[in-house]
Amino acid sequence: MSQKRILVTGGAGFLGTNLTARLLAEGNHVICIDNFLSGLREHVEGFLDNPDYELIEHDIIDPIDLEVDEIYNLACAGSPPAYQANPIHTTKTCVHGILNMLELAKKNNATIMQASTSEVYGDPEIHPQVESYWGRVNPIGIRSCYDEGKRCAETLFLDYYRQHNLDIKIARIFNTYGPRMHANDGRVVSNFIVQALKGEDITIYGDGQQSRSFCYVDDLVEGIVRLLHSGYHEPVNIGNPDEITIADFAEEIIQLTGTDQKVIYKELPMNDPKQRQTDISRAIKLLGWEPKIGRAEGLKRTYAYFQSLSQAELNEKDHYDFDKFIVK
Ligand code: UDP
Repeated sequence: MSQKRILVTGGAGFLGTNLTARLLAEGNHVICIDNFLSGLREHVEGFLDNPDYELIEHDIIDPIDLEVDEIYNLACAGSPPAYQANPIHTTKTCVHGILNMLELAKKNNATIMQASTSEVYGDPEIHPQVESYWGRVNPIGIRSCYDEGKRCAETLFLDYYRQHNLDIKIARIFNTYGPRMHANDGRVVSNFIVQALKGEDITIYGDGQQSRSFCYVDDLVEGIVRLLHSGYHEPVNIGNPDEITIADFAEEIIQLTGTDQKVIYKELPMNDPKQRQTDISRAIKLLGWEPKIGRAEGLKRTYAYFQSLSQAELNEKDHYDFDKFIVK
């Protein structure tokens, strides 16, 4: 079989680097596009010597011409503080960027997968969230740039399928964690572990009774690779259904890290969903996929990853510089 040319947009991000490692290990040629707003250069350095790896510094909101067989469209800041730092750019990434990638796929007759999100369900009234649920999203809140952007991206994907018969796939990705997460991106898994490592208090937003279900990144990557190769065009939830409240999650991190810091409570961000749990019946049925790595093992590996970072990397505020979003 001839080698595939696979484009990974957002290839320097958390999911992008984990996916790239997998695709290169399978002998593919990987082209990474990243604008390095939230992607980290040090996370792609290890790939640069590989002759099957190409790095293109580019923002997908501008068109680009490439020869590709498959596209994983992962480009978009995923952490709330990051995507809210320049919300107009976030929407552009999900609309202008998506149009550029869909046109590229059309020109190449390539299969294209969109990294959609559980955020399309908003603050849901249906629990757990099943793909047929249309969601409850505030169109004018501070999360809307991401939530509505990702919803519009799904619309465009399905319209390219219906209008141009493009081979599209949509993965609705639920909270994901694991090695190569950014230490300072503001998400709960990295925040709690990094706070424990730095000897800082653990910050729970609100009363901690809101829930999430966390998927280990290797499971997520397996799920999206299977989805891209499936013949299915409707959205598919990819996540781990094991739900936990944020307060209980903080307890787990305290046990794991042995930190003697206290838990402090901060204000709950606006429109923060109260509960979130994935229903993966569709993924099980269509892809024969379900997560294999439970939270105990996944968190152990993630903690080991953060322990391997230097104090400078953990402390460096510039390591992940939200001000960059404001400039553009
Ligand atoms: N959260 C928290 N403390 C933190 C960071 C986040 O309690 O230091 C909460 C946040 O309010 C949300 C949940 O943890 O209810 C998950 O937040 P995250 O930003 O990881 O993901 P998302 O809200 O996009 O699911």
